[in-house]
Amino acid sequence: MAFDPSTVRAEFPILAQSVNGRPLVYLDNAATTQKPRAVLDASRRYYEEINANIHRGTHHLARAATSAHEAAREKLARHLNAADSAEVIFTAGTTDSINLVAAILTLAPGDEVLITALEHHSNIVPWQMLCERSGATLKVVPCHDDGTLDQDAFHALLSERTRLTAITWISNAFGTVNPVHEMTAAAKAAGSLVLIDAAQAIPHLAIDVQALGADFVAFSGHKVYAPTGIGVLWGRRAVLDALPPWRGGGEMIKEVTFEKTTYNDLPFKYEAGTPNIEGAIALATALDFVNGIGLTEIAAHEDFLIRRAAEGLASLDGVHLFGPVGRAGALSFGIEGVHHYDLGTLIDQMGVAVRTGHHCCQPLMARFGITGTTRASFAVYNTGEEVDALVVAVAKAVGILR
Ligand code: PMP
Repeated sequence: MAFDPSTVRAEFPILAQSVNGRPLVYLDNAATTQKPRAVLDASRRYYEEINANIHRGTHHLARAATSAHEAAREKLARHLNAADSAEVIFTAGTTDSINLVAAILTLAPGDEVLITALEHHSNIVPWQMLCERSGATLKVVPCHDDGTLDQDAFHALLSERTRLTAITWISNAFGTVNPVHEMTAAAKAAGSLVLIDAAQAIPHLAIDVQALGADFVAFSGHKVYAPTGIGVLWGRRAVLDALPPWRGGGEMIKEVTFEKTTYNDLPFKYEAGTPNIEGAIALATALDFVNGIGLTEIAAHEDFLIRRAAEGLASLDGVHLFGPVGRAGALSFGIEGVHHYDLGTLIDQMGVAVRTGHHCCQPLMARFGITGTTRASFAVYNTGEEVDALVVAVAKAVGILR
């Protein structure tokens, strides 16, 4: 490990508090991450120093805010290795990005949208709505008992009818890391557009959109130490140029008359209205923070934490771990005779924050015949001691609940 998590931790003011008289152990990072001082300062500095509406202003502040916002876009483009920064569309988050794509595609009866059993509701429901609207059919790649996707079924389901394939890179429920490069290549070879839900990938992995080869990549800032309400849709320029605009309003136009409106070029074509300027700047700052530590180092640290947690929890009586070895970010488990909600509530009293329930993956829970799991999820600031505190808390809670 090339960095000291306790030094990193000191950058996150929220983590210094106690909960129920115990030091807070925050293990709900797949839901949202905490924010380092650099990000908090960037947001504050934006409002204290350069707040103004962007793009059309002639005055000093408008120019300063515009250049900071567009510098953030450039930084995002570099982080994603996008060929063109105009391919970086700022959105409100993953859900917003996926809904954007679902809204601008036109499908017809006979067309198919292919998703997987591991998807979050936000990578299911927009496609169901598109299918309802267009008469297209939704197909689902099943998963094995270990929480990995059935690749044979995936290849069998791909056909010339597949117009859009939407896959999560990392499962927020089980931590499964999908082989998205291979799956993207296969879907593209079948003639399908490909969208990758990178909501859980963005804090843990380097994303090179050119190497990935997909048409769309969606993620949220708040999963990678940035504020809520900001996210990205990266879209391949040739694809987005050929698709219609989505929301109408200011910024997305070139010229408006009552007879006819002409639309702006990328990225503004998909950024109607005043954007989350501060959020974009803070997201770029969050990526600086992550890159300052190094994604490889962060991934290695999180891997250490998740393996330690898996080992500790598996040693307890009646614990079942979901997802494959090699999972990233999140570790889901169930305990015989103990309801996940009771467990979560009890360990919260010991200062340990985890998430319980279906994790917005009800079809996946149904596949495993459960209503939910307990999920611990990890970030750069978590420590081995916190993992041990989790295991001790779970063991105590099980003793009380059984
Ligand atoms: N997809 C995945 C895999 C997620 O983990 C999440 C957030 N839990 C989302 C999509 C939705 O992200 P958001 O709520 O930020 O739009």
